[in-house]
Amino acid sequence: MSKSLSDGSMNDNLPQAATEQHNFVLPFYLTGSDEETTPRIRGRITRLAGPVESILARHNYPDAVAEMTAEAMALAACLSTTLKFDGVFTLQAKGDGAVKTLFADVTNTGAMRAYAAFDDDSAQDMKQGLPAILPKMMGGGYMAFTVDQQATAQRYQGIVELDGPHLGDAAVAWFKNSEQLGASVLTAAQRTDAGWVASALMLQQIAADGGTGPALSSDEADDLWHTAMVLQSSAERGELLDVNLPLENLLYRLFNAMGPRTTEIRQISDQCRCSSDKVEAMLLGLGEDDVRSLADESGKLIVDCEFCKISRVYTEDQLAKLR
Ligand SMILES: [Zn+2]
Repeated sequence: MSKSLSDGSMNDNLPQAATEQHNFVLPFYLTGSDEETTPRIRGRITRLAGPVESILARHNYPDAVAEMTAEAMALAACLSTTLKFDGVFTLQAKGDGAVKTLFADVTNTGAMRAYAAFDDDSAQDMKQGLPAILPKMMGGGYMAFTVDQQATAQRYQGIVELDGPHLGDAAVAWFKNSEQLGASVLTAAQRTDAGWVASALMLQQIAADGGTGPALSSDEADDLWHTAMVLQSSAERGELLDVNLPLENLLYRLFNAMGPRTTEIRQISDQCRCSSDKVEAMLLGLGEDDVRSLADESGKLIVDCEFCKISRVYTEDQLAKLR
């Protein structure tokens, strides 16, 4: 089901603005104009507040690291909804700069987790709101996009070098490698009085002859794509992060001329997938000697989840009973 944004659902809808929950991805597409119905460009927009704030609140990262982690979450949320899968989508960047690892994953039901690993001293010196420039924070490295299919245990992975200034650039390179079609991604994140807010706005070209309607000439397709990218680049950081501006209104403001139509939203939630069962299965898999070497002098073993920060404590007796 899709709905046209110019169907009167827009018009500064203040009550909606006040109550909009910032915990979803809004998929949309552009047809080129109100009269056209064939999707030519696929898009995703998100503004995440609640889930991003609650995840970052547990980690207490320096602001520049938190900002980058927040952007990674918004990007992963958008990307996860562009793929059909039943399992987990993971975005993982590895670098040799102050930030060593940036990790965000999202299940097909929208359960999201994230963490960052960084060099404490150099990360403290970095300022939030630059906005975080990737090469400065991460140095050289790569970004991996992974889809793990639960039912079949199949894994698909695409890897690209980190060579643009922003996190979204790696996603664009990935789309170009895998589909040979244009993609363009904006991300932004900021700490506000109400907590962390992160946003992403992505566009993806649909193959000129790949739609359901009449094929476009490559010049026509290029023109549409160019216009869409110009309109996307007019989005201001302040608009993307303004919690009082409903996403539908922002979409209409940006892409009014190109027949924007939204489809069903996809919820995103702060939800870890760790459990005592999984930890105990992992401990069993390690073998007795390894477990003993991880325990402290009294034989007690503490297992911390690096995502949700839950600590699970096992006494020597409890560990013995696991066997
Ligand atoms: Zn956890």
